[in-house]
Amino acid sequence: LRKAGTGRARFFSQDLQAHLAGYAEVRSALVGALEREEFFLVYQPQVCAVIGRVLGVEALLRWQSPALGQVPPDRFIPVAENVGLMPRLGDWVLASACRQAGQWRAEGKSLRVAVNISATQLEDSQFSDRVRAILAEQALPAEWLELEVTESMLVGDVAECQRALQAIRRAGVKLALDDFGTGYSNLAYLRHFTFDTLKIDRLFTNAMNNDSSGDALVRAIVATGSELGLDIVAEGVETAEQAEALRKLGCSRMQGYYFSRPVPAAEISVMPGIDAAD
Ligand code: C2E
Ligand code: CA
Ligand code: CA
Ligand code: CA
Repeated sequence: LRKAGTGRARFFSQDLQAHLAGYAEVRSALVGALEREEFFLVYQPQVCAVIGRVLGVEALLRWQSPALGQVPPDRFIPVAENVGLMPRLGDWVLASACRQAGQWRAEGKSLRVAVNISATQLEDSQFSDRVRAILAEQALPAEWLELEVTESMLVGDVAECQRALQAIRRAGVKLALDDFGTGYSNLAYLRHFTFDTLKIDRLFTNAMNNDSSGDALVRAIVATGSELGLDIVAEGVETAEQAEALRKLGCSRMQGYYFSRPVPAAEISVMPGIDAAD
């Protein structure tokens, strides 16, 4: 037991070192990265749990740095937030995703695009105006855009958060609560905010094939979410068994490697079950 503990401590300090060394590198490599067009988006399908059709996609940000290689978003987005790049990079993500959604629509493919937003974007009092402007620019009807916020973003001033989220929904944009179950909130807290969609974190999806208490948790989330009129999306679906169990529990959309990894837009266009006429 002691040996295992020591091993863990050693790994931890190595990870920490790599993380600390990485921060300055990431920060300096981020300077000018947007202008040099080092960012791009990939899209992961969200599949209808009942008939398997692709209903929409989640846009996920990627950074190919000439100096550092491909840096995962979990590593560079917090840095981008700290150095003040995030409102601009966030706008770029929104505009790119909306442009792509408009392009799919022009091809007869009606796919709702979900875009992750960060705390600094939501805190910006002009945010909902900018979302509206971007939708107008891309001639995209608001309901084809869904914005994903996480629970941890809603811990500050509740009234302020409510105002920001309401402004977005009044514009007709859909609102999803991401990573549900991992943050500070609970199902009761959910009643303070108006969401359209609840995304069950992949932690819970994962727990489903391990034990039956995992099933019970997901069942409770789906039941309460449905009662609140929310669309339930399960994240991180990796096996046929998970997909089947989630469908039976009443999840409406599913997302995960079992269906598809995040892929470039061109691969989405040729996926079966995409065309509006289906
Ligand atoms: P997220 O919003 O929870 O996105 C889901 C993450 O799970 C993605 O990681 C996706 O690639 C991964 N994933 C999808 N299906 C599976 C699966 O079946 N199994 C497993 N193990 N993983 C799966 P990714 O792309 O690395 O993104 C990580 C996080 O970075 C996102 O978590 C999100 O919080 C953030 N992020 C990504 N793009 C953006 C963005 O444009 N803006 C902001 N603010 N955050 C973003
Ligand atoms: Ca997300
Ligand atoms: Ca998530
Ligand atoms: Ca996450």
